Amino acid sequence: MNEESRIKTYLGSNHEKLQDTRCTVIGLGTLGSKTAKTLGKIGTDLHLIDRDFVEERNIDNQEYTKEDVGELKTEAMQRKIKGMDSEKSCSVSSSALDINPNNIENQVGETDVLIDSTDNLKTRLLLNDYAKKEEIPLIIGMIGGARGMTMTVHPEGPCLRCTLGEEPASQETCDQEGISPGIAEVISALQVNQLVKLIEEKPLTDLLTINLENMVFDKLKTKKRKNCSTCEEEYKELDRVREARKRCSEESVQLYPRITDPEKLEKINPEVDTYGDKIAILENKGIKISVYSSGKAIVKGVETVKGAREKYDELLGGR
Ligand SMILES: [Zn+2]
Repeated sequence: MNEESRIKTYLGSNHEKLQDTRCTVIGLGTLGSKTAKTLGKIGTDLHLIDRDFVEERNIDNQEYTKEDVGELKTEAMQRKIKGMDSEKSCSVSSSALDINPNNIENQVGETDVLIDSTDNLKTRLLLNDYAKKEEIPLIIGMIGGARGMTMTVHPEGPCLRCTLGEEPASQETCDQEGISPGIAEVISALQVNQLVKLIEEKPLTDLLTINLENMVFDKLKTKKRKNCSTCEEEYKELDRVREARKRCSEESVQLYPRITDPEKLEKINPEVDTYGDKIAILENKGIKISVYSSGKAIVKGVETVKGAREKYDELLGGR
């Protein structure tokens, strides 16, 4: 009788190779929480990156349970994966932060494959630049409404900017946007399959788009675009200076304050709650400020960048 797992039987000699692969999953929301869990079950070594906490509203579409509410997504997912009984227990590490041009190199570190499950084009283009520069394969995944998209950016193949154009229109999938049940599962499964194909040295570099609304699956043959800045080694996103911006969510603004050490922030305003040495949170009259030791702050409950700066200065004494 065959005692092997069915996945092992299918993959044969590539099974061990897959388990020895270190994948960095960026984004642990609707899509990334599923992909991370599947990879954890297979026993792939993982590094998980996400800045958010589990919220009540995440439970029906993400791989978290009621008990995880209030916990960092990185920590909740790390615990789940460690508790799964795969034959080879994988090594899992995590960083609770947002990837940006300043920290990407340190945070991604040594990795064999990058897996994009982020919810914004800016970070996706940054990952595309980084992947090309460092010659690391990148498996892109994007979902919104009933639509999804996925593609592997291989060191030798076309990149995302080759495919979407030099300055692609933002297709941000705000987490306020509805999501069709099932689309994340489909794209997540395709991302895992692309990883298997990478291990087998048969990368799938076509762009696959899916619309569950009318069950249309489209495969677009990708090719290198002449004058693509990324492929010509001009890494615009990696070189971009960090700037304050209004976030996807209508009422939140991202800032880059000078002081981001939770302990110091607690001294500035004793109402600050700290979560380890990574995050400080301050709630005051409908305003919520989360400061990440990685260098960023999110101000919720404001409508403009100016308003966010004023509130920040008032509550946390200057940036
Ligand atoms: Zn390119």
